[in-house]
Amino acid sequence: MSETQVVTRFAPSPTGFLHIGGARTALFNWLYARGRGGRFLLRIEDTDRARSTPEATAAILTGLRWLGLDWDGDPVSQFERAPRHAEVAQQMLASGHAYKCFATQDEIETFREAARAENRSTLFQSPWRDADPASHPDAPFVIRLKAPREGVTVIEDAVQGRVTIGNDQLDDMVMLRSDGTPTYMLAVVVDDHDMGVTHVIRGDDHLNNAARQMQIYHAMGWPVPVWAHIPLIHGPDGKKLSKRHGALGVEEYCAMGYPAAAMRNYLARLGWSHGDDEFFTDAQAQAWFGLEGIGRSPARFDFKKLENLSGQHLAAMEDAALLRELKAFLAATGQPALSARQEAGLSAALPLLKGGFKTFPQLLEKAHFVLAERPIAPDEKAAQALDDVSRGILAELTPHLQNASWERDALEAAVKQLAEGHGTTLGKLAAPLRAALAGRTVSPSVFDMMLVIGRDETLARLADTRG
Ligand code: GLU
Repeated sequence: MSETQVVTRFAPSPTGFLHIGGARTALFNWLYARGRGGRFLLRIEDTDRARSTPEATAAILTGLRWLGLDWDGDPVSQFERAPRHAEVAQQMLASGHAYKCFATQDEIETFREAARAENRSTLFQSPWRDADPASHPDAPFVIRLKAPREGVTVIEDAVQGRVTIGNDQLDDMVMLRSDGTPTYMLAVVVDDHDMGVTHVIRGDDHLNNAARQMQIYHAMGWPVPVWAHIPLIHGPDGKKLSKRHGALGVEEYCAMGYPAAAMRNYLARLGWSHGDDEFFTDAQAQAWFGLEGIGRSPARFDFKKLENLSGQHLAAMEDAALLRELKAFLAATGQPALSARQEAGLSAALPLLKGGFKTFPQLLEKAHFVLAERPIAPDEKAAQALDDVSRGILAELTPHLQNASWERDALEAAVKQLAEGHGTTLGKLAAPLRAALAGRTVSPSVFDMMLVIGRDETLARLADTRG
């Protein structure tokens, strides 16, 4: 392990599912670490006991696993590290970078009201900041950071550039509450430091926190990680992302039948770019991903693009991988598993179907002709194509097919001959034939289907239409 090994982390608060913004943050951190032989860590920020739930933690882990974002080591529970956070607060107290504040809520409110009345900043200035410890009462206290009052705090952000915040805008934040529990701001810094995090990539809603966190790093004399605050994701109309736009949990994208590889590709492109490349593999994304490629304006979520990428990834996938993922999709969505017969049929049909579907449900629909059990129940439109006249003609096809050699040209010649004998065309006869073979009006070509399912099955399906 080299001294400069990159360490990134994803630090979700377990208060809900893994939404699309969180998934993208996780992906960026994963790509950054994996592309540099670094480590990608997971920290569950569960200090807020009232809002954190084990179900949310489980949902986040499931979402990350589905997305294929593997983390190194065990997930860290922030809550369990509370004693360490308190220890650091005590260290700052001892070094004079923090102080005990005994002000009550009432006193703080009175201070603020007076400040408002006099048009001064309402940021609380504690009278205990420079108090002699000998004057401390035997009363509950919080530990506050003794933040610099003059000058500025500067953040060199890898995405936002230099961000300067006047220290008069930042109060002496509370780090340890009167019950001894750490605040979020302290916990994040201590954890990132102790976990050896070198790069923090997160949403730009945390940019203001970075200034406060910077002050803790300075007080402790710890090296500051590289920060990269990425713009949030917006809807296609440029407005804040809503459910209608795609602000869903990743499990819902799984249920919609997008393969995880496409989701990674799409999420990587949400706010990051590498030239004009739209479609890429994980290996390419890992090799190319860097903070310099992250844009400063909000990315726009676009279902059409996701679907196109999904189609490309499904088309590029090896048959075995495609089958494996399809089976996982069926299991994840509570659908029956494929029987051996269905799996064999699907394997035989895949060369025909490849490139013709963008999601797993679309694949299942196109593959209906090999998945459905005899007798094939036609859907409403297919039933219309199978009227009495057509069924009569199809009945005549059987003896021709019994003798034809089972090759495309011969099959086509047989159907064409029959059609012409009835004063119609091959094209017209294809509709009822398709309905009989697939139970659908949309399917691969009738000859392709006949070749895949074979002579016996073809004849049996034709016989089924005669009831
Ligand atoms: N727990 C925070 C969140 O879910 C992330 C904190 C961080 O990345 O520093 O928004």
